[in-house]
Amino acid sequence: MRRIPVAEPVLNGHEKEYVMDCLETGWISGSGKYLNAFEEGFAAFCGTRYAVATFNGTVALHVALLAVGVGAGDEVIVPDLTYIASANAVTYCGATPVLVDVDPHTWTLDIADVERKITSKTKAIMPVHLYGHPADMQPLMALAATHGLKIVEDAAEAHGAAYNGQLVGGIGHVATFSFFGNKVITTGEGGMVVTNDEAVALHVKQLKGQGQDFHRRYWFPIIGYNYRMTNLQAALGLAQLERITWFIERRREVASWYAAQLQGCDLTLPIEASWAKNIYWLYSVVLPKHVNRDQAMQTLAAAGIETRPFFIPMHVLPPYFHADGDQQFPVTTALAAQGINLPTAASLTREEVTYVCDMLKRCISG
Ligand SMILES: *Cc1c(COP(=O)(O)O)cnc(C)c1O
Repeated sequence: MRRIPVAEPVLNGHEKEYVMDCLETGWISGSGKYLNAFEEGFAAFCGTRYAVATFNGTVALHVALLAVGVGAGDEVIVPDLTYIASANAVTYCGATPVLVDVDPHTWTLDIADVERKITSKTKAIMPVHLYGHPADMQPLMALAATHGLKIVEDAAEAHGAAYNGQLVGGIGHVATFSFFGNKVITTGEGGMVVTNDEAVALHVKQLKGQGQDFHRRYWFPIIGYNYRMTNLQAALGLAQLERITWFIERRREVASWYAAQLQGCDLTLPIEASWAKNIYWLYSVVLPKHVNRDQAMQTLAAAGIETRPFFIPMHVLPPYFHADGDQQFPVTTALAAQGINLPTAASLTREEVTYVCDMLKRCISG
């Protein structure tokens, strides 16, 4: 039987050659030429002055938050609809994630709710460019300027997405990406911090290397972490980065096939706001209320089509539980109950998308 996965890596560029080069030369640990090339290349791709590679996207968020000064007692505004890493990274800093509802159209931070939740303890706002659509950055940057806050973009799902023509990652004070196996490009596990601020970049670099002084070996003026990416990961990353435009264009093409075939169906389709370039990390739809979402996913699974439910809202999870959360975050609650991510692998064919759409239409019609 056919099996169509939600995501799968495509590794048919220079991946094998670069990884073999690491093995043959012995450069397999936390430094080497692929790390330098991957960081330089990724900064150039984002249009930022600096990029610092980390072991994964979660620790990238942790050190990015620390580097802009988030610490014990601070509050950081985080969307209720996100992957738990966004909130956990705030908690790792000893700070409190303050949950905010999302916009019903873009599924990213609701600006009015952000404004309501700013207090004297707020230190930063973390827009998450969910499923590849950028958050509405301009009003967030304005709020940050008014209240003296930092903007930490969680761009884990949005490599190449843009806001008014400007690529995500270079808009806030600092931003992070993930290269997990199902992300736009992958290093197996991996992450990156990008910024235009030299002090932030240096702080991130020091934090990820145990806090070691740059000029004096084994001198640790601060407590850091071992969050280094390996040269092996970076070898994969560099090969993937060489083809990043292809990966992004493939996703946009797959999305255009879905949109053409699902237009007019009783479904909420993902949008591309007038100011946005959506890279459709995962093409995602919201099923109508009369359809049992989990049953529909089972029916699709039986037809060999893998799907994923939207993230469970942070307010439902034990570490961030809010008893009145469903009332406080109605948009997130409704999206999370009925949303699914459809197969969006770069390897997907038009025929497979047609098959997925036909099966999905059957689920919603009967
Ligand atoms: C994937 C992801 C992360 C973290 O990435 P890892 O590399 O898996 O640690 C953070 N935030 C969001 C929104 C993600 O999707």
